Amino acid sequence: MEISSPHKGGCMCGAIRYEAKGEPRIVVNCHCSSCRRHTGAPVVTLVIFVEEQIKFTKGERKLYESSPGVRRAFCGDCGTSLTWEARSKRFPDTNIIDLHISTFDRPEAFNPTQHDFYEERIPWFDVVDTLPRFVGDRELPLCHGPEA
Ligand SMILES: [Zn+2]
Ligand SMILES: [Zn+2]
Repeated sequence: MEISSPHKGGCMCGAIRYEAKGEPRIVVNCHCSSCRRHTGAPVVTLVIFVEEQIKFTKGERKLYESSPGVRRAFCGDCGTSLTWEARSKRFPDTNIIDLHISTFDRPEAFNPTQHDFYEERIPWFDVVDTLPRFVGDRELPLCHGPEA
């Protein structure tokens, strides 16, 4: 089944709702320790859009500045982690909003294509797939999937 835009989502209690128009620039699994803290999960999958593609249609998200210029949004009522928002090195031309994939109504609409901050992963997190691994934003040339 074709899943069409806009992609809709929101927090657990429904106070915050958003719509994402069009398709994301990229979808990544992020293993960085900041994403882990923000979500409480061992790894998060981020669906990366240009700021203009995202409209918050209900409620007011709370923003926490996790490092200079980087803001992370969450719902002030239920605590659901929603976004990572900043100007990133990967797409320096625009502000981007990464939406946490599990806040979408249809998370199955997106497929991650790489592992970011692979070097920061929890050591027991055995990533058994063939997606490329990135140290920060630099691809590891000899590390595509599990060792043979
Ligand atoms: Zn909520
Ligand atoms: Zn991260």
